[in-house]
This record gives sequence, C-alpha cells and structure tokens, in this order.
Amino acid sequence: MTVETLDLDVDPATYVAIHDRLDEPTADLALDEREREVRAVTRAVVAHEVAPRAAALDETGTFAHESVQALARAGLGGLIFPTHLGGTNDSNVAYAVALEEVAAGCAATSLVLMTQMHAAYPILLAGTSEQQQRHVPGLLDVTRYGSLAITEPGAGSDVSGLATTATPTADGWRLSGQKTFITSGDRADVIICFATTDRTRGRDGVTAFILEGDWRGVVHGQPFVKLGMHGSTTAELFLDGVEVPRSHLLGDEGQGWRVVMGSVVKSRISAAAQGVGLARAAYARTLAVLDRLHDGRWPAEAAFALAGLRSRILQARLLLHATARLADADPGPSAGQVALMKQACTDLGFEVAVEAARILGPYGDLAALGVERCLRDAKVTQIYDGTNEVQRLLVGRETTRSWKDQA
Ligand SMILES: Cc1cc2nc3c(=O)[nH]c(=O)nc-3n(C[C@H](O)[C@H](O)[C@H](O)COP(=O)(O)OP(=O)(O)OC[C@H]3O[C@@H](n4cnc5c(N)ncnc54)[C@H](O)[C@@H]3O)c2cc1C
Repeated sequence: MTVETLDLDVDPATYVAIHDRLDEPTADLALDEREREVRAVTRAVVAHEVAPRAAALDETGTFAHESVQALARAGLGGLIFPTHLGGTNDSNVAYAVALEEVAAGCAATSLVLMTQMHAAYPILLAGTSEQQQRHVPGLLDVTRYGSLAITEPGAGSDVSGLATTATPTADGWRLSGQKTFITSGDRADVIICFATTDRTRGRDGVTAFILEGDWRGVVHGQPFVKLGMHGSTTAELFLDGVEVPRSHLLGDEGQGWRVVMGSVVKSRISAAAQGVGLARAAYARTLAVLDRLHDGRWPAEAAFALAGLRSRILQARLLLHATARLADADPGPSAGQVALMKQACTDLGFEVAVEAARILGPYGDLAALGVERCLRDAKVTQIYDGTNEVQRLLVGRETTRSWKDQA
C-alpha cells in the first residue's frame, strides 16, 4: 500500500490501537475509573461508527445523522445530565474526555453532538421540571435535533445588540427577527432562542424562549457552504411573528443573559475538547504517515517537531481536564479561567494541524490522509462559542481586575 492510500479510519482495531498508544499517563492520572471507562467506550464507538464515515461526510457534505445516532445509542448523548432526564450523571471531565474522542474521529459529528447538549443544558439550568421532562430526553437520545440561537447578523460577540424582539401578547409573546450561523438550524425541532423584551435595557432585556421548529412563522434557512465541519449544518433562522405561549418562556423575563452565561461554561468545554481532539487527530495522522514514509527512521527535524506537538497537546489536555474538574465543583471556574481554556485549546487544535501539514510537506495537502480536514475543521473552533479575541479580552480583564484587587 502506498502512503497516498493509507487509511487510518477503516479498520476499528487499528484505529483504537493508534489512539491507545497516544494516551498520556501524566494526564490519565487525573481521571477516575469511570472517566477512563467513558473514554474507552467512546473510542470504541468512534472507531466502529464515527471515524469510518468521517471522510465521506466531509467530501459529500452529508449531515452526521448516523454517527450521532450511534453515539446516542451508546448512552453518550447525556453525559452530564441526571438519569431521570435520560442522562448518565457523569462529570464534566467525562464529557470533555468523550467529546475529545469524538472530535478526534470526526469533528463535524462532535459539533452536532455538542449542539444537542448546548440546546438541552439551558433547559436543565433554567427550565421548569415540566419543560425539562418534555424537551430534554429527546435532545439527549437525538430523536429530536436542537439549536441554541443567539447570534444575529448584527449581534454575536455583543449580545446586548440583539434585535430579535419579543412583544407581549395576551397569551405570551410574539417573536420577530433573524438568527444566523445557527448549528443544526436547518433542521432543529427544539430551538433555544434569545430575544429582547426591552432593547433599552441591553443585556438585562434579553429573555430566553423554547421554540418548536415546526411552529408557524419559524422559517429554517438552507445550510451555508463552509470551510470545514461539512458533516454539520449551519443556517439562518427567520422568526416571522412567531406566537410563543407563556409555557415556553425559559427562566424569567430579562434573565436570558444569565442563561447564556450559565451555559457558556459547558459550551466552551465542548469547543476546547474539540481543539484537543483535532490536535490529537492531526498528530496521530502525522505519526502514521511518517512511519509509512520512513519505516520508523524519522528525520531528526521531524522527531524534534513532533516532541513539541506532543508536549503542547498534553499541556492543553491537562488544562481542559483541570477546568472541567473545576466546573464539577462549587462555585466553578471564573469566566476568565473558562476563556483561557477555550482560547488555548482551540488555538492549539488549529496550530497543531498547520504544523502537522508543514511536517508532512506534500502529504499534508492530501485529502486522503486527513490532516487538511483537521486544519479546515479546526479553524471555526477559534471563532464560535465566542471568538478567541473575545476570550483574550475576558482573560485580560480578569487578570487586570484581580491584580488591582490584590494590590
Ligand atoms: C460554523 C459556525 C457555527 C456556529 N454555531 C452557532 C450556534 O449554534 N448558535 C449561535 O448562536 N451562534 C453560532 N455561531 C456564531 C458564532 O458564535 C459567532 O459568529 C461568534 O461568536 C462571533 O460573533 P459575531 O458573529 O458577532 O462576530 P463579530 O463579533 O462581528 O466578529 C468579527 C471579528 O471582530 C472581532 N471582535 C469582535 N468584538 C471584539 C472585541 N471586543 N475585541 C476584539 N476583537 C473583537 C472578532 O474576534 C472577529 O475577529 C456559529 C458560527 C459558525 C461559523
């Protein structure tokens, strides 16, 4: 077999063996037995059901429905949710470990899976028990697709600029406006939608609603054509006078910003885990290709560069696990700590993919070897869930504030 046709994803046993070899005892020490079990289960499902489909989903732009269903069937759709809602009551660390595994096998699948969690979590956080029972189980077992709809053409980083308006009616609210760049927005059955009930109050006017995707006035856009993550969809959502009954208010009126802030810890753990998973995927592919090219006798320059990548991936994984562990505790990590993790881990994913492509020279450019897919998929993790510029801003603000407070 020539290098050009080397396929790392077809044989599940080879896939598992390659990724088992890349586990780092230094990071594993921080995992408990259950977290290691979750990793092994996820890796096996990824090897059999997710990684073998990844290249074709990317090439054809097919939605990762089957891959996500396989993960849900294995009980991996509700790791941090209570058992009475269909979850497994696992730690944030277990979730981070699992999502890293999925991203290493197919980043687009990890994006669809994590979006289910991002739609379900605000309901767990702020919903009534009736809302939880009604909406959460279907998101966790992926019988229904979910979206979290914050971003608008004029508001994303700056949520106070939301222009989607919720006007009070006799029975609830009427929503009008436009959302954009919404993951799974083309097909969402359940939409957690943020709108303003009072534009003069900025963030304090933001209110969260649970919308059904088939309601009159909810119009789903066509998926955008994107650089990467081709097995996921990103689309506009148009809200044309959508009548929302009172029972679909999520939390209290004006509390939407708190719902966003309470949920970003989870969504930024997701993005960070994708960064680490993509870095590992690019690194694993580089090792396998070099091995084939040089029969184990790698050029010194390559070995030197690989040592740097291995060390950076390990550092990022430790940061991810430590921040997720803090999220399991009370009071949890600060906004700056979460931002530090998200920015560092997602920058790592992209930078490792770029470096892997450089080390491999022309082989880094070949679609069949998958490094170029890692590179394309990694780019957007630096953009969504708050751009990395905005994350640096949060870290910088917190650093300045705590330095001043301690002076
Ligand atoms: C594939 C994909 C999936 C997505 N999924 C979702 C989803 O499911 N739900 C959802 O609501 N949104 C989603 N988004 C939107 C995404 O979260 C936003 O695009 C992102 O947070 C940036 O916000 P923005 O669009 O307002 O960009 P802008 O804020 O306009 O960013 C433009 C540039 O300005 C920079 N910038 C902005 N503010 C500052 C500042 N204060 N200081 C320094 N630089 C700054 C940014 O870093 C960026 O470089 C998705 C986007 C993509 C591409």
